[in-house]
Amino acid sequence: MRRTEVAVTWIPCLCLLALAAVPGLQAAASWKAGVSRIDITPNESIWMAGYASRTKPSEGVRQRLFAKALAIEDSAGIVSVLLTADLGGFRRDVSQRIAARVTAKYHLPRERLVLNSSHTHSGPVTTVGRYSTYPMNDEHKAAVLRYQGQLVDKVVEVIGTALESREPATPSYEQGFAGFAVNRRRVGHREYPGPTDHDVPVLAVKKADGALLAIAFGYSCHATVLSDYQINADWPGYAQEAVETRNPGAIAMFVNGCSADQNPLPRRLVELAQRYGDTIAIAVDEVLKRQMRVLGGPLQALYEETPLPFRVPTKDELKGRLSDKNRRVAEHAERLLAILDEGGELMKEYPYPVQVWQFGNDLTFIALGGEVVVDYSLRFKKAYGWEDTWVSSYNNDVFSYVPSLRVLNEGGYEGGGAMLFGTLPGPFRAVVEEAIAEKVDEFVKRTGGAK
Ligand SMILES: [Zn+2]
Repeated sequence: MRRTEVAVTWIPCLCLLALAAVPGLQAAASWKAGVSRIDITPNESIWMAGYASRTKPSEGVRQRLFAKALAIEDSAGIVSVLLTADLGGFRRDVSQRIAARVTAKYHLPRERLVLNSSHTHSGPVTTVGRYSTYPMNDEHKAAVLRYQGQLVDKVVEVIGTALESREPATPSYEQGFAGFAVNRRRVGHREYPGPTDHDVPVLAVKKADGALLAIAFGYSCHATVLSDYQINADWPGYAQEAVETRNPGAIAMFVNGCSADQNPLPRRLVELAQRYGDTIAIAVDEVLKRQMRVLGGPLQALYEETPLPFRVPTKDELKGRLSDKNRRVAEHAERLLAILDEGGELMKEYPYPVQVWQFGNDLTFIALGGEVVVDYSLRFKKAYGWEDTWVSSYNNDVFSYVPSLRVLNEGGYEGGGAMLFGTLPGPFRAVVEEAIAEKVDEFVKRTGGAK
């Protein structure tokens, strides 16, 4: 329940809790759910996403990668699908292909589909743009395009399987804590404030007989423990494995949080990836053992792409940068000038995907695109409720970093430096945080949240 509602709706809330305590009653009356998984491990050597410094494609598989779908149907019969994947990210082009097929095949509207990625830095590259961050040759690019085709097919398939397997179910929600995420901007800048979000949100879905069907959990931390040439899902992969080992029969799904400026530290050892996975699994188990809040319906959903404006450099500015001592700055200017010389245009703004799911009066799930810094998670939880707001990012289009105004002003990699790796003209204009906050606020209100 929302804290602000306690005083005015105390008695009805007690009644609801009493109802929820009767096993199976609420489940049969309101929700249905289905969950499914599919193996998306590349079947050949492929370039790996995450680090620009890799010089060759993958050399083996340490851990299988999965896409998992949770289909959830509210009492009005409206279905929504949460899809999570052990991938660096779904880019806009891939998301659009998946969404178009899912809408055509299963009649699922765009706002009812969340495509979340763990941002493992040891998964395959999934898109081939004109300018790649990675030094791939034609053969490497062909492998990526083959993988992309298989990935789209498999994601569409796993969503179908989850939809078909719907049965009466009860979703409930609570949060735990885990502490290994470190604000990585303090590495080299110990004077920075370095906020973190150590909450571990848990959405548990139980069948009518009380058995766990799905356990979706979140955390705000990059999946960057490992950096070698073995395909794996990094700490979120080990976390999902550990949650499933501890809860046989359930499918565990990692929903990425606002991890842009958060790193698992220390790192670079397989043992650490496993340990962080175990840490999360223990935190999830602690939550599962508690009395969790049963979520009421309906599930309201909104999705929209809102324009985020860039600070676009002039042609003269770009020419001036060609002699910059920083190789990345000069190369970025070269790429942008090539676009202009061919009669092309630089992007003036980014179509930024914002999505909100509202579970009755009980949970606001905010699903943002891009790599979002932790300030947004803290801001939205403060605004809409620390206990019943779940802020995730790496949804629908993982195109670049999304700084808060503070991080934008501080500068550095997450502030805009990362855009030097592609063709975004960046950094974003100062309006970035308020533009996102305004859209989120509109959506939260329109879906009936934060009353
Ligand atoms: Zn990243």
